[in-house]
Amino acid sequence: MAGKKITCLDCGQVNRVPEDKLMSAPKCGTCGAPLISDKVQEVDFATLQKAARTDEVPLVVDFWAPWCGPCRMMAPEFSKAAVAMKGQARLVKLNTQDHPQAGQAYGIRGIPTMAAFSGGREKARQSGAMPGAQIVDWVKRAL
Ligand code: ZN
Repeated sequence: MAGKKITCLDCGQVNRVPEDKLMSAPKCGTCGAPLISDKVQEVDFATLQKAARTDEVPLVVDFWAPWCGPCRMMAPEFSKAAVAMKGQARLVKLNTQDHPQAGQAYGIRGIPTMAAFSGGREKARQSGAMPGAQIVDWVKRAL
């Protein structure tokens, strides 16, 4: 069956979405959650690992923590980028305070750090806060 593999960020189920359906609000076949959204979704370590390895739609992760001022400042900018990139990449965030093992596994030294995954591999990494338009440019160059 043709289509792109996309991990449901709610239940972890891998779905296959035909390419022409990417922009028409595809839903998870298991739990019904939207697979493509213009909202930044929080993920846990297991979901991030699965999606980063499996997904055929690029995944951009913002590693952040609630105590980090620059992270909180960047959050609305990252959200703007998610709207701009809808259907081209999924933007998610991982709270490194709640999931410290993820920060270790991905070797995150400072936050905010963004990492772009495509085709099961990390393509680029960027530390420090950026405005939304710059995030979009960086993601497009990375992919
Ligand atoms: Zn699901």
